[in-house]
Amino acid sequence: MEIVRTFADARALGSGRVGLVPTMGYLHEGHISLVDAARRECDTVTVSLFVNPLQFGPTEDLASYPRDPDRDAEMVAAAGADILFAPPLAEMYPTEMLTAVSVADVTEGMEGGLRPGHFDGVATVVAKLFAGLVPDRAYFGRKDAQQLVTVRRMATDLSFPTVIVGEPIVRESDGLALSSRNIYLDPAERTAARSISRGIMAVAGAVLEGKRSGAELELIAAAPVNEEPGIDLDYATLASQDTSASMANLDRPAFLAVAARVGRTRLLDNVHIDLTDTGWTPDVGVRLDEPSILYREA
Ligand code: AMP
Repeated sequence: MEIVRTFADARALGSGRVGLVPTMGYLHEGHISLVDAARRECDTVTVSLFVNPLQFGPTEDLASYPRDPDRDAEMVAAAGADILFAPPLAEMYPTEMLTAVSVADVTEGMEGGLRPGHFDGVATVVAKLFAGLVPDRAYFGRKDAQQLVTVRRMATDLSFPTVIVGEPIVRESDGLALSSRNIYLDPAERTAARSISRGIMAVAGAVLEGKRSGAELELIAAAPVNEEPGIDLDYATLASQDTSASMANLDRPAFLAVAARVGRTRLLDNVHIDLTDTGWTPDVGVRLDEPSILYREA
């Protein structure tokens, strides 16, 4: 695997079908599942590693965001990636940015409502990665469901030829969705955080039992979080997979997204539900058998 710092070097090394996995580093098995998917489907697998200041709000954790570039490089090399693109700030933003990519509507509610400017930062950096690396396919986690909707819409609206691929959520064996930010959680906070995935699993069960009302499913997701001390719910929302608009009933492909705060840590989770898919079951993702690298390091 080659570690490169410039767009030009990353482009020069790519051949055949190029798959891109954009990340902010501090990698875990969720990121590696994206690398695995790219490895199955592409000739060149490029992982980008860049903590993007544009997508952090002024009171958010940019300075303290966990970083371990050496471990990240080992993990992506072991997963069979060809290129690790780790640009310095001056490569990503060589001049003051006078251009921004802003995706309307689909960024309005949920994360977009609570984190003003966040999705402009995401859309802008992903557009730069697509323009600079020219990937054939790009791999994103369904864990960040509204981000996936936003990136798909950005790529369509700006005519990027890149195919956007969404991959299932990877979870700890106790259900907690993996996130680089889980490293912030102390043992009591982890216990509280588990209530989120309990709600998500309860929603999946309720859908299988035939429940279709958005309000009812949202209450089912929220209940375990609201009952747990030490965790504050931001939202539990049934939303469209195409537009992120909230939905009163499960009559189109949807996801039920939950966001909550535990101490200084914000956590996201969701279940994707597509009743139009024949043989469907709610997609709650996959569980690891062993503690993830994040638990092992804590
Ligand atoms: P990040 O480094 O947090 O920006 O995440 C990089 C990519 O990994 C995004 O597409 C995320 O949605 C994805 N990702 C993060 N956590 C998980 C997870 N637990 N399962 C699957 N994908 C994930």
